[in-house]
Amino acid sequence: MSIDPDLAGGRLTIDLNALIENWSKMRDHAFPADCGAVVKANGYGCEVEPVVKALSRAGCRVFFVALPTEGLRVRSVAPEATIFVLNGVFDNSQQAFLDGDLTPVLGTVENVRRWIAVAHQQGKAMPCALHIDSGMNRLGFQAGDFETLVHDANVMGQLDVKLLMTHFACADDIGHPKTIAQRELFDKTTRLLPGVPRSAANSAGTWQDKANIFDLARPGTVIYGAEALNDVPNPMLPVVTLEGRIIQIRNSPKGEQVGYGATQTLQRDTRIAYVSVGYADGYQRASSNTGVPLRSVIEKPSQAAFKGHYLSGIGRISMDMCGFDVTDIPPEEIAEGDWIELFGPTIPLDEVAAAAGTIGYELLVGMGQRYARTYIGAE
Ligand SMILES: *Cc1c(COP(=O)(O)O)cnc(C)c1O
Repeated sequence: MSIDPDLAGGRLTIDLNALIENWSKMRDHAFPADCGAVVKANGYGCEVEPVVKALSRAGCRVFFVALPTEGLRVRSVAPEATIFVLNGVFDNSQQAFLDGDLTPVLGTVENVRRWIAVAHQQGKAMPCALHIDSGMNRLGFQAGDFETLVHDANVMGQLDVKLLMTHFACADDIGHPKTIAQRELFDKTTRLLPGVPRSAANSAGTWQDKANIFDLARPGTVIYGAEALNDVPNPMLPVVTLEGRIIQIRNSPKGEQVGYGATQTLQRDTRIAYVSVGYADGYQRASSNTGVPLRSVIEKPSQAAFKGHYLSGIGRISMDMCGFDVTDIPPEEIAEGDWIELFGPTIPLDEVAAAAGTIGYELLVGMGQRYARTYIGAE
């Protein structure tokens, strides 16, 4: 669904050239291992079709999604790619896997049984990935169960295992001992199936230590310009810019209170610009003027930018709008109908996320359906 910018309160500009540059940087870093791309959650909110088309042009041939429904969307624009479905094969989804030539990531005995039934029906070993839990206690076979599986010739004869994978719990913390322990367990466990390609690292794991990569890197967030590692400067280009349309500029006197809950009392005569973006658009209410501590990062309300000026959020973020203090901008320089940057090249996405007590990922995937979207560098 595309939205007419003249009818929208917020506009997103998604720079596919920057996206390609970010992915290429990861590909070069991962070399000689291969580099895929994680495009789940609608390409981290950037729309899966333009994202997959752009990455395909750049040479990406392996995509990861969470769900079969997402896999079908990838297939519609990437006829030749390998598409892994991380959350496995659900009952009654088998036909979609066949139709879309999707490769399930199997991590339970139930999943394996379900996929083997397809193999019997098709009369051939079926392609799949096997997920090994190396210590996150999320998805995948524990090492002992994996060993049992591998030694079951009836089962293995029905599976064409394309990839062995695991996932790190703490890769965003550089040098975390858990990452090293997980990597060693994965390395040891997977020796039971020599010759099958192996994949362990997300963005953070790939970036911080090449030993984490094995044969195939699985970056997601950095491709979209968000930060992956804690406490180091983000080397990626911003991909997404969000701007809000100013719908009112008002003068409110010192001592007045602003917004729902009257949470903020003005310390000076203040000009407030309201933009037509609110929490219904995924611009999170939690980033209102309180600020939320997050790990070692900033505690301040979300900031915005207008023609080189930094603006502070004022009052609570409402469903359909939020306010910024524009007192220091000369009145002739700013008017109703102008656009304020909420994140993008001036205001890092991750800082707005931190102000809401969350991570850039959540802000990206929560980008709402009411924005007008423009793609730079689309075919
Ligand atoms: C989401 C996901 C990734 C990508 O993670 P990023 O931190 O976004 O790079 C990789 N592997 C698995 C299993 C995932 O679920």
